[in-house]
Amino acid sequence: MTGKLPLCPQAPPDCPDVTEPGFDPETDSEGILAEANTVAEVDRPPDAPAPRSVGFADILGPEPTWHRCDCGAMCSRVPCWDCDQAALERADAARAIHDAGLSIPRRYDWATVDAPELVARAKVAGPLADIIERVLGATRVVFYGSAATGKTSLATACLRKRLPKGMFVSSLRLGTARIQHAAGGGEAPLVQRAMRAKLLLLDDFGQEGQTSTNAVRDIIFERHDLDLPTWITTAFKTSELAKFYGDGVARRISEGAYVVSMGGGSK
Ligand SMILES: [Zn+2]
Repeated sequence: MTGKLPLCPQAPPDCPDVTEPGFDPETDSEGILAEANTVAEVDRPPDAPAPRSVGFADILGPEPTWHRCDCGAMCSRVPCWDCDQAALERADAARAIHDAGLSIPRRYDWATVDAPELVARAKVAGPLADIIERVLGATRVVFYGSAATGKTSLATACLRKRLPKGMFVSSLRLGTARIQHAAGGGEAPLVQRAMRAKLLLLDDFGQEGQTSTNAVRDIIFERHDLDLPTWITTAFKTSELAKFYGDGVARRISEGAYVVSMGGGSK
């Protein structure tokens, strides 16, 4: 036995613990064990019990303490790997839902499909539960009604069921997004997100200014081309929207759409 245990077996050759003369990391660890066992044997008084043989565990440390996870798996740390990963994924999913929900204005924090307030605010003809079920099953939805008929409340409550794959955007904000975005910097990020969202709720369609920079029209066309579901709330009839945006936009919004008439209005 000429060397000593390497403190860092992976260390570069200039590490003094590894390069001590005569030390061979391939063979010397076994030499250490043999010597430790020999010394223990030589020094033993004749009547003493035979010493326990020195094993690798004495050098590397004891085995972990094994536990049983709630799922039944054996593990050195509870919860087990699978349960730990599943918990992390649940946390990620909850965070994604929370983050996507940030697009919804705070004043609709209460709005869920189960909220008692929704029954009072959403002025619909027919059972609310049936209407919600149809909205959630539809690709295109138009929530049509004048102010204070609860169209945004109902739309937002339904959108929340689709998070994290849903985005709320106000038409008014889209109407000015390009102007507020620095020229030469490409498309405004809000417009880009509205074009690509898995499901877009376009709120108060038709309320924004009819300017050349208004992005709403482009968003409707882009989403139609990509076959992405779009829900809109609007106080305007299809014929009025056609006047604002042209027949192409009006058709892309209303064709095959489930129209929820709120407050007794007609489309
Ligand atoms: Zn487990």
